[in-house]
Amino acid sequence: MMNFSEVLDSVPNVEQRKFLRAFNTFQADECRPVSISDLAQQLGFEVTLVELPRDVKGRLVSQAFSQNGYEIQINRNASRRQQRWTVAHEMAHFYLHTDYSDPFSEDSYRAAPGFHFYRTDELKNERQANEWAAALFFGDNALRRVWTKLDQDIESVAKAFGLNEEAIRIATKNWGVTPRANF
Ligand SMILES: [Zn+2]
Repeated sequence: MMNFSEVLDSVPNVEQRKFLRAFNTFQADECRPVSISDLAQQLGFEVTLVELPRDVKGRLVSQAFSQNGYEIQINRNASRRQQRWTVAHEMAHFYLHTDYSDPFSEDSYRAAPGFHFYRTDELKNERQANEWAAALFFGDNALRRVWTKLDQDIESVAKAFGLNEEAIRIATKNWGVTPRANF
């Protein structure tokens, strides 16, 4: 598991860390989603909705004209809640896995063609990207606070974060938030 301070540490620009902090705090305080595409743009990404194969949720591609040199492309046919998670996941690849020293290197996270076998390090990177995304949304007690305020109701909590209920179910296990006994 990754915690919120590790998310902050992964972002080299200290000013930009404030945007991540505000995103995390506001959702936990207000119990309603904050635009994650706005957050990504504050961090210098271009974010676009594009046509992608059904099983590709999004990808990070180099984009010379964006502020930080990268564009996050999101599958336009995915649900809004899935898209929110994917923006966080792709940002994670930028902060954790991008080789900044070579902006023209092959994009590792572009859609893989047909029969692609993930190498062990790719799987590890996928897991890390999801952990970073989870820590951005739920870290620093955000999940615990919303969970308590909304009476431990998965559906309401999912709505508050603007995420799929499945993402919340996984998070409750990973973040040690226990569903109430209801019988
Ligand atoms: Zn990924």
